[in-house]
Amino acid sequence: MRICNLASGSSGNCTYIEGETTRVIIDDGKPLDYVLNALNELGVAPDSINAILITHEHVDHIRGIAKLATAFNIPIYAHIYIKEILIKQLKVKEELLNFFDSDFYIGDLHVVPFPVPHDSRYCVGYRINEEDAVVSIVTDIGNFTDTVYEAIKSSALIYLESNYDPEMLMAYPKYPAFLKKRIAGNNGHLSNISCAKAIEKLVHSGTRMVVLAHISEHSNSVNLAVNTIASYLESKNIIPNVNIRLDITYHEKRGTIFRLTPTSKKIG
Ligand SMILES: [Zn+2]
Ligand SMILES: [Zn+2]
Repeated sequence: MRICNLASGSSGNCTYIEGETTRVIIDDGKPLDYVLNALNELGVAPDSINAILITHEHVDHIRGIAKLATAFNIPIYAHIYIKEILIKQLKVKEELLNFFDSDFYIGDLHVVPFPVPHDSRYCVGYRINEEDAVVSIVTDIGNFTDTVYEAIKSSALIYLESNYDPEMLMAYPKYPAFLKKRIAGNNGHLSNISCAKAIEKLVHSGTRMVVLAHISEHSNSVNLAVNTIASYLESKNIIPNVNIRLDITYHEKRGTIFRLTPTSKKIG
């Protein structure tokens, strides 16, 4: 598998995943030109993409989908619980829309959706398997529940939200009190320290790479997120770059390209 986040944050989310014969995008909240440029950098023709998977209906996750799907005739997949709202919000031909209520295959990729607490109509994360190579994506998560942990544990690579620093969030003058409460609530977003505690559990389950996602532009910084998480993990004897590789996503550029190889395809 080759995996690359193309953008992450409230200005738009998009992640690219490819198996040996299958290519998918998870969410698309970016302008068409942005996504086409990012795919071009990866050497991916947009008409070779087999599916666009949606986590939830917030605009930063779906804003770009209608144009991309329509231009290249790409099927869209979302949970059945957001069918009505997507039909209203996404101006696409209905034959492009597919709805699921359990796991499914797209080519050689086994897609396992799971419920995530977040204040949209319904929100899922995805565990994506190419045989025993596994990547999981969980952004927009109000709290790290046992359901989410069970769904993503032992994934080699995980994209996990590290949205805000509680002090910066409370001090940010442009957010009204109700919005701060919503973000920090159990159905809002994940703070740096909550993300750190989730990573601690995940490292013990066998995860070795975590990419911090959906980092807020207003109530967080990359340095603060990474430092908070690294020092929490060190206090638990989990050493960054030894026991766990931490990486980051960006608002306006693609992140690291990761490769995961199923055991059956390893040479030697
Ligand atoms: Zn959201
Ligand atoms: Zn979001």
